[in-house]
Amino acid sequence: MKILVVDDSSTMRRIIKNTLTRIGYEDIVEAEHGVDALAKLDGVQLILTDWNMPVMDGLTFVNSVRSNDQYKSVPIIMVTTEAAKEEIVVAIKAGVNDYIIKPFNQTTLQEKISKLMG
Ligand SMILES: [Mg+2]
Repeated sequence: MKILVVDDSSTMRRIIKNTLTRIGYEDIVEAEHGVDALAKLDGVQLILTDWNMPVMDGLTFVNSVRSNDQYKSVPIIMVTTEAAKEEIVVAIKAGVNDYIIKPFNQTTLQEKISKLMG
């Protein structure tokens, strides 16, 4: 399964990538913001995206994916420090399937992915 990891922090991308590798996913593509991510959607089956990023933030990116016929049904998990309930509601309304609050552990990531991907 091809997974796209979007985060402006290279450290966070490495943490997420290493966690995914430990779970057993190896086909991982990285992007540093929404614009970069939109150019890397080809064949992606799951998206993990940060919220706060330069150039194009996660929410704008999610809106763009959801308004694209080809990719509108790709599952998206928001990985964010934005833990306020109002913000989560905004993310869900934008079309995020689930969210993970940073810092997260391997079990949480694994459970969220299994729940989404079956
Ligand atoms: Mg960020």
